Amino acid sequence: MEILSTPSEARQFTRSLRAKGIRIGLVPTMGALHAGHLSLVNQSQQACDATIATIFVNPTQFAPSEDLSRYPRTLEQDYEMLEAAGIAAVFVPRVESMYPPGFSTYVDPPEIARTLEGNCRPEHFRGVTTVVMKLFQAVPADSAFFGKKDYQQWKVIEAMSRDLDVGVDVVACEIIRESDGLALSSRNRYLDPNERRRALRLSMALKELEQAISAGERDVATLQDGMRQVLVSGDGVSQIDYAVIVNANTLVPLSTLDRPAVALIAARVGQTRLIDNRELCFGSKLLGGR
Ligand code: AMP
Repeated sequence: MEILSTPSEARQFTRSLRAKGIRIGLVPTMGALHAGHLSLVNQSQQACDATIATIFVNPTQFAPSEDLSRYPRTLEQDYEMLEAAGIAAVFVPRVESMYPPGFSTYVDPPEIARTLEGNCRPEHFRGVTTVVMKLFQAVPADSAFFGKKDYQQWKVIEAMSRDLDVGVDVVACEIIRESDGLALSSRNRYLDPNERRRALRLSMALKELEQAISAGERDVATLQDGMRQVLVSGDGVSQIDYAVIVNANTLVPLSTLDRPAVALIAARVGQTRLIDNRELCFGSKLLGGR
């Protein structure tokens, strides 16, 4: 496995593979890798001839009040996991090589970035679209793999890629969960045992939501109330940023479940902010458009 450390090195490496007709899959990450990241790597390995992962904790997507400085960094372990997965290369740029002195060009995010995470974290998606565009330039891949765990991020990148004719096929991968339902996340490392138990409220709220839909409930306000109750009941989450059901494609609020929809939750447990979501189905018919 090659370790690439500058954008020009990454571009040279990628171009040399593509010149030989090798189809490249790109898997962007912020490291502290877990089975969720590995599922993206595996899907890339299956769909493409070679995979290039990236590890970069991107400062421009963190607000000053957020966890940039304490974000988990486990580089040696990450290398071992990626090597074992058999990928061609990992691109691990330093902050100064992505944002050298004088850097001042940003990608203005698409409309779909303005809601939900965009409200809670105003500068976040500008950092995401900028860094993903830079990664697409450094690693001009055929396909890029993103997790539905970050549902809105997937939609933002899809829209950006379409709007800016990026020419990379954006592939979305299903959410990987612990056996008890907790969605895997690098930030789960912040949780102490008590918080880990409380964090289960997110996946429980989504599971109970699905049960209510199976039982025939279609009124979105009622379903959202139900989710919020599960989130806060007992020793629940500390704060709900949002717990909503929206159009799965546009993220516009719905009043009744009559089209492809997704339930999205962001909540805090202690100091840790967690997100989770579920594309919605009733009966055997999936509303999430899969
Ligand atoms: P991150 O390192 O958190 O920026 O995540 C890198 C990529 O992995 C993103 O596309 C995430 O959506 C994806 N990812 C993170 N957690 C999961 C998970 N539990 N299941 C599937 N994909 C995930």
